Amino acid sequence: MLKRRRLVFLGIVFLIGIFLSAAFLRSRYNVPILMYHSISPKPNSSIELLIVKPEIFRRQMRFLKKHHYNVVPLSSVADLIRDNKKIPPRTIAITFDDGYKDNYTYAFPILKEYNFPATVFVIINEIGRPAQDRISWDEIALMQESGLVTFGSHTLTHPYFSKEVSPGSLKKEIRDSKKILEKKLGRKVDSFAYPVGRFDSRSRQEVIDAGYRLAVASNPGKAFSDRDVFALKRLRISRNCSNLFIFWVETSGYYNFIRELKRKK
Ligand SMILES: [Zn+2]
Repeated sequence: MLKRRRLVFLGIVFLIGIFLSAAFLRSRYNVPILMYHSISPKPNSSIELLIVKPEIFRRQMRFLKKHHYNVVPLSSVADLIRDNKKIPPRTIAITFDDGYKDNYTYAFPILKEYNFPATVFVIINEIGRPAQDRISWDEIALMQESGLVTFGSHTLTHPYFSKEVSPGSLKKEIRDSKKILEKKLGRKVDSFAYPVGRFDSRSRQEVIDAGYRLAVASNPGKAFSDRDVFALKRLRISRNCSNLFIFWVETSGYYNFIRELKRKK
């Protein structure tokens, strides 16, 4: 009799344990926002690690489709967070930084094939520059017309937002890039990406004052909120994620949590 009571007790403790762990995990869930750079079959020694081959990118997109991920525009992720709404499972957003020409040549046809929306952050003063392999205004227009791709500002010149940047040039980088992009695209530009993902309270405030609705960083760490729409954390998808198992872990929604645990140690 005693033994049976003990078993029931242990069973209840076990169920409570499972329930609490599930609740804990749910609270650690973070919408994965993927950050790509160049999608190219060609090697480029200066950004070697940041290049993802087109066939790998296609395989990753196929993985998202096959496993019924809900690929949404970045602005929708920010809206859900801002409005404190319940985020549907497997929600994910795709972004590209720096505006490589190959985003048009290689990534765009694959995005169209899967009908996945994405945001591309362009460096205004580098648009159309062949030396840096940058996308042109015509290609930007074609991508925008598809309705799938949204463009955001990644400043005028991609400076490192350190304390040395004067208030004047900080303002110019953040505001003028928005104005130029809006004029060229004929629509409002709501999103901003900090150069090399780094920001501080000054640049964050400037982004808000300039009228953006969201900004993306890389991963500034545990000390920063997961729900700050002006410093959204992102996952860098590089050559190292060619393995689909690693890609699955990264897109699980728990990768930031795991990474931050690791960093603490
Ligand atoms: Zn960049």
